[in-house]
Amino acid sequence: MTPTPAQQLLEAVQCMAQAGLNKGTSGNASVRLDDGFLITPSGVPVEKLTVGSMVYMDWTGTAEAGKKPSSEWRFHRDVLQARPEVGAVVHCHSMFATTIACMGRNVPPFHYMIATAGGDDIRCAPYALFGTQALSDVAVAALQDRKACLLAHHGMIAVGQQLSQALAIAIEVENLCEQYWRLLQCGEPTLLTPEQMRDVHAQFKGYGQWGK
Ligand code: 13P
Ligand code: ZN
Repeated sequence: MTPTPAQQLLEAVQCMAQAGLNKGTSGNASVRLDDGFLITPSGVPVEKLTVGSMVYMDWTGTAEAGKKPSSEWRFHRDVLQARPEVGAVVHCHSMFATTIACMGRNVPPFHYMIATAGGDDIRCAPYALFGTQALSDVAVAALQDRKACLLAHHGMIAVGQQLSQALAIAIEVENLCEQYWRLLQCGEPTLLTPEQMRDVHAQFKGYGQWGK
């Protein structure tokens, strides 16, 4: 039986915790529905979450009665609205992505896998207070033509057609940020050129199990 959106959401946040991307009540996730979206509740540790904890919201940002959605519902809603191809959004405060985000740095193309986040870099959105429209606005801008971005002094956002894809991007971004952080200990890394990155994007089109 296909899991319901609420089951998928629960599984995704459990996976984020198991993968070490989130601790405590940090992070949140959402999945698109026909007439709105389903989002994790605010301030509930993952081990306390159940399928019934998930909160339905419509596109005006009205939550179902008696439930308190993630404080970051604005950027979940705005990303889902701005990006029709996106079906799921995940947010985490993972160690290395957050470390780079606290330096306020974009992640440049030091490794070809940067392309998996959709472009030639992973942008870091300027700092804005958590849970605000200001944060949503800078996040939507940093995610333009990308599947992930960093949030200065905060963490990261990853998106995908489905939760499993958003999660895979978040795991890869965390991995890249760890590599970048390690490289920074030795100075500024050398970077791939725009031409080399163009070839990487082209090569990815024929990569993996698609288009066999
Ligand atoms: P919520 O528990 O409200 O989802 O907040 C966690 C968080 O990461 C805020 O940025
Ligand atoms: Zn956060």
